[in-house]
Parts: sequence; structure tokens; C-alpha cells
Amino acid sequence: MLEYFSYSRLSTFKQCPAQFKIRYLDGIVNKDESIEAFVGKRVHEVLEYLYNKRKDESITPIIDELFEVYHTLWKDNWHERIAIFRRELNWEYYLALGEKCIAWYYRTYYPFVEPVIGVEQSFDFELEDGFRFIGFIDRVDKTNEGKITIHDYKTGKRALAQKQADNDLQLSIYQFAIENEYSTETDVSLVWHFLQAGSRVESQRSDVQKLKHKQDIIKRAKSIKSHIANGQVFEAKESMLCNWCYYWKECPSKYTANPYSGRKYT
Ligand code: SF4
Repeated sequence: MLEYFSYSRLSTFKQCPAQFKIRYLDGIVNKDESIEAFVGKRVHEVLEYLYNKRKDESITPIIDELFEVYHTLWKDNWHERIAIFRRELNWEYYLALGEKCIAWYYRTYYPFVEPVIGVEQSFDFELEDGFRFIGFIDRVDKTNEGKITIHDYKTGKRALAQKQADNDLQLSIYQFAIENEYSTETDVSLVWHFLQAGSRVESQRSDVQKLKHKQDIIKRAKSIKSHIANGQVFEAKESMLCNWCYYWKECPSKYTANPYSGRKYT
């Protein structure tokens, strides 16, 4: 039984229906995670700390404080099931990569005077009857004039090109969630911060684009529902991305565990 949808559920289904079934229908959870995901979570937590300090205490932490928070979070959350696919790299490389992301963000946006109304803001709404979506938005700003900006932090290597951002469904879902929450008719802007690449991309959706994106999102969600209702096979789609999948034991196309998981680091 699938109670709700999210952007990551839609994209997992598109990337590999078998992985979708293992994770979201069979409910199999394992502790494995990629080092890239681990770094991304820690950097997001540091930016959450930064904006909560600004929002709740009107304090701007110095960058050394952010690095200290980052190192503490790294140590407290490190575990034995973190996988490094690129064997030529080690955990020190990734620790420094997170620092680089934080340093770029700090340099670029200091002194952080944005009109923040939400940090790691959760949402839960029906995009259409029977299609409930949940998720978290990294940051939401709202000016006195009512203009809303939705921010998303990315720590991956590649930045989106403008056209990709204009067609991105993840932030369209966020926009629908925010419009649902604030019943806003005002302009909503979408901003991606690519921390590793050191760049920022912005987009705004026209009414025509919004309609199209809504149709695309619902079409994908319907396809999942009909797979379940009709007992269709959730096909295993092998690709390069299998290297970052930790469900090899459950996967119908693999017969071992992912060789990169459970590696011991010195
Ligand atoms: S290993 Fe590859 S094919 Fe198998 S579930 Fe994971 S992503 Fe899909």
C-alpha cells in the first residue's frame, strides 16, 4: 500500500522500478548510504543551523563556528555502512569537499539577511484527489510584499543548466506545496544553489508550465498506481547508478551485495 508520493519516490521509480518496489512497497530499509549522500546531509544540517541562528536569535555565526558544527555532525553521524565508490578517494577528501561547499556559500551570501520564513520546511498536501505528496524544502523566504522564494541546496558535482532548471519537477512540486500552504497568487521564484560548482540558477514558472508540470507529475504517479493495481512487474533497470544502490541482495538482476558497501576505513 502506497500512502503518499514524493519527488524521490517518482524519480526512483523512473530510474529503476525494482529499486522503487524494494524500498517503498516491500519497505526494506538498510543502513548503507553513499559518502556523497552523507556529505550532502551534513552540509544541509550546517545551513539549517546557520539560518535557525539568524531566524531565532538574529545571530550570524562566524565561519569557524560553522566548520566546528560540521565536524561535530560528521563525527556524530559517521557509521560503518558508508560507501565510497570512487576508490581513489578517501573520507578526508569528502570531509574537505563539504568544507568547500560551506565556505562558498558563506562567502557568497554573508551576512544572510534574507527574509526567511521556513528552514527545512515540511509539506503534506494533495496535488490532485488521491495524490498526496510530502517532502521538505531547504529554505523558504517571503518578503513584506509577499514575494516567495524557494531555495534548494545541491552538493553534487553537476549544476543544472537553465533549461533543465526550467523543466525540473522537484521544485515544481515544492512550488505547488507552497501555493497550497499560503494560497498565494504572488510570484514564486525557485533558486538552486550548487555549492560544489559554486553557482546559482533561478527559474519562474508560467501558468502554462505549471499546468504541464502538474500533468507530468500526476502522469508519473498514476503510472506507479497502475503498476501496483495491475500487479505489473517492477522491472530492474541496470545502469551506472547501480553503483550507488544498496539493494543488490534484493535486486532480481544482482546476486551479491554491492561491493562498495560495508568497506572499512582507516
Ligand atoms: S542494483 Fe540496479 S537494477 Fe538492481 S535495484 Fe538497484 S538500481 Fe535497480
